[in-house]
Amino acid sequence: MADDAATTAVLDLVSELISRRSLTPDDAGCCTIIGTRLQQLGFTLEYIDAGGVTNLWATLGESGPLFILAGHTDVVPPGPREQWSSDPFVPEIRDGLLYGRGAADMKSGIAAMVIATERLLARRPLKGRLAYLITSDEEGVARHGTRHVVEVLKQRGIKPDYAIVGEATAAEQLGDRITIGRRGSLGCNLKVLGKQGHVAYPEKAENPIHTLAPALAELTATVWDRGNAHFPPTSFQVSNLHAGTGASNVIPGHADVVFNFRFCTESTAEDLKARVTAILDRHGLRYEADWWLSGEPFLTRNGALIEAAKASIGEVAGLSPTLFTGGGTSDARFISPWGAETVEIGPINDSIHKINEHVKVADLDRLARIYEGVLDRLL
Ligand SMILES: [Zn+2]
Repeated sequence: MADDAATTAVLDLVSELISRRSLTPDDAGCCTIIGTRLQQLGFTLEYIDAGGVTNLWATLGESGPLFILAGHTDVVPPGPREQWSSDPFVPEIRDGLLYGRGAADMKSGIAAMVIATERLLARRPLKGRLAYLITSDEEGVARHGTRHVVEVLKQRGIKPDYAIVGEATAAEQLGDRITIGRRGSLGCNLKVLGKQGHVAYPEKAENPIHTLAPALAELTATVWDRGNAHFPPTSFQVSNLHAGTGASNVIPGHADVVFNFRFCTESTAEDLKARVTAILDRHGLRYEADWWLSGEPFLTRNGALIEAAKASIGEVAGLSPTLFTGGGTSDARFISPWGAETVEIGPINDSIHKINEHVKVADLDRLARIYEGVLDRLL
């Protein structure tokens, strides 16, 4: 392949994807573009759609370790058009940067995965199984996307060994950082029940603020765990607290609290719920607790995938990546608990979700070579 063709292969594909206006949960035809390329390589395509979300599951190979390349085609809204220097859905290169919504998060990752796969298969057959899990519901509620596909595949008894999620993970240079874990997020709407009455007759009322206060003091003072080498300790934060009718002479009938845990792998959601419940019960509160779990934490400890990623990044970018566990959530939270060694490797993330989102043109082909190097070492 000529050098020019090599450098534009990822650029051409990511440009095609950026020009699709794929606002969550609309795939806008992205999976058709990706699927067509994979089909030409011999992949079997299956659409595991749900709730208006397009989910592509494409597989190649019959036996051996299962390696998943995962990503999302959906993008967040661009924001005010006039603040962008060019149309967010018309890819444009200026000063070595490719601009467009989804350029970094994460159409470049997907395009680089496809090119990496094409190049590897042009050289040799696989020694294992390769699959793509592409969804159009990552930036939204993420209920009908990767989470759904994983549930369906679990029921079929499919078990993955490795997964790369192509989210933007680099800090300043491509390859300087990869994500190997993320904290979990657990929230709760707590309604503490009391009995409304006149402040002059407290014996005829039950003040929920008074019953809540000591319990809340204990919750905020509790050490949930001490963290570990990869994560800071689990944190409990109250984000909303409301009670009272506005009148100064009325004991309110209820007090409402919203709190959130960002928790590490030393705790589980079930364990945290049980400990909170025990504290509330010990203080004699009457309450309704409405919990929601955004994701369990995940952590890929040292293993073959991290080693392969380090070696490939060292070879292509000349860097030794920092192993990162910060940032928000990603679909790795669904794939890792499924049993796969999971890492996130992608372009520089400083412009994601922003006006004038962009990626370095020079990084596109290098990202494909990093992915190819990882696949080459494990498949
Ligand atoms: Zn993303």
